[in-house]
Amino acid sequence: MKAEHYVGGVFRSDGTSFPLIAPADGSELGTVPEATQDVVDGAVTAARAALKGAWGATGVQERVAALRSVADGIEARFGEFVDAEVADTGRSRDFASTVDVPRAVGNFRAYADLLYGRPERAHMTQVPGWSSGTGEALNYTVRRPLGVVAIISPWNLPLLLSTWKIAPALACGNTVVLKPSEETPSTATLLARVIDEAGLPDGVFNLVHGHGAGAAGEFLTGHPGVDAIAFTGESATGAAIMRNAADHVTPLSFELGGKNPALVFADADLDAAVDGTVRSSFTHSGQICLCTERVYVERPVFDEFVARLGERARALDGYGPMISAEHRDKVLSYYRLAREEGAEFVAGGGAPEFGDARDGGFHVQPTVLTGLPETARTVKEEIFGPVCHVAPFDTEDEALALANDSPYGLASTMWTRDLSRAHSVAPRIETGIVWVNCWNLRDLRTPFGGVKASGIGREGGEYSLDFFSEPVNVCIQI
Ligand code: NAD
Repeated sequence: MKAEHYVGGVFRSDGTSFPLIAPADGSELGTVPEATQDVVDGAVTAARAALKGAWGATGVQERVAALRSVADGIEARFGEFVDAEVADTGRSRDFASTVDVPRAVGNFRAYADLLYGRPERAHMTQVPGWSSGTGEALNYTVRRPLGVVAIISPWNLPLLLSTWKIAPALACGNTVVLKPSEETPSTATLLARVIDEAGLPDGVFNLVHGHGAGAAGEFLTGHPGVDAIAFTGESATGAAIMRNAADHVTPLSFELGGKNPALVFADADLDAAVDGTVRSSFTHSGQICLCTERVYVERPVFDEFVARLGERARALDGYGPMISAEHRDKVLSYYRLAREEGAEFVAGGGAPEFGDARDGGFHVQPTVLTGLPETARTVKEEIFGPVCHVAPFDTEDEALALANDSPYGLASTMWTRDLSRAHSVAPRIETGIVWVNCWNLRDLRTPFGGVKASGIGREGGEYSLDFFSEPVNVCIQI
């Protein structure tokens, strides 16, 4: 798969490039073009022209049809998308073909359905006459697109997370410039092919590849021609983007990092809690923003829970690699730090040796820790690998205090069979999403996002349509 920019309806890969490395075995998959300021300028100019041209004049029905054609186009190239995502990320084919690619199709269909059923969400709503001044008025609200939207996406769910923003942005009539992660450019390039084949007007969707700081990401987020920025990635990157966008007061939607807690109460179905924690801590080797890194277990079941989780972690097979050598080194540095901080390693703690091609890749062992104080950096900082720390608690209030003692607030999980406890504890956990007796069960219409340093704003269903369109009030005196 050759990574290419897509600017104003033209594929190009001129200029310098950098190698694309397979995380599974360290081999070189190809090269990625690095977008210069000129390429980014070209993409923003093309997006602006499309807004003023054919796309700006499209009605809701035409946009719904466009979203459905993109969904059909992804489905028609399903196998190619799976291959590209597996090669770039090193994840399993099963994960790519049951999560990444179906969800990308679902993202386009969900917003097409939403818009089809509620066209006023992207257009207008009327308010019956009422006035605080003299005379009667008819007020109505026109929803306008924001304009040219810059989308910056991470490497952990490349296709899923970029389409999660592209679909509602296009649904609301915006034009888009996407900069995917430099580590995972391939499915974005395939998506540009699909959008090209679906016949969307030139410039409606543009793609520029390259790095973030001091490069394409920064050129784009500081660009005066960009009307809004939708970003998913680390909290520190969000802060850098915010500073860069401040001069133009560009509206922002941020989905950022986390240090997600799980609470396991003694009355929980322990089989389900152990199963659920294996999934929530180790799926995609912990490289999902929603993964659990802090587990708090009520003392009567603490020892049993730790023993069972450790056993399951040691038996895990076929888990994927870290995205890059750099990220593997970061995760391993946290394993060393945990040792220095006095952690007990119940499972893992190093890098595996396979005796085959995988040894050239970027694998680390699934790791379960206990025994650290809450002040330890290992317990406080996002590691973004297959690792969790397990600590005991004695009371509900203590469990809540531990869960909430974090600068982050993305997602949490609680395990209990007590219905009233579930209802009373869940709303008091300071995270944007609280799962009870499950993890990562998603309805695309529900609000998705984090509190505290985990994000600004909400995505999902109407929440995304709210961000990607601007209500304008028109008041007519009768
Ligand atoms: P990252 O912040 O390093 O990079 C994300 C994107 O930002 C990449 O495309 C990168 O090139 C770009 N970028 C980097 N510096 C930039 C700059 N100064 N200006 C403009 N763009 C810049 O994140 P990552 O390592 O790719 O992803 C992992 C992080 O993402 C974790 O912190 C994880 O929790 C978070 N994440 C959050 C969510 C969520 O929904 N809240 C989802 C997935 C991942």
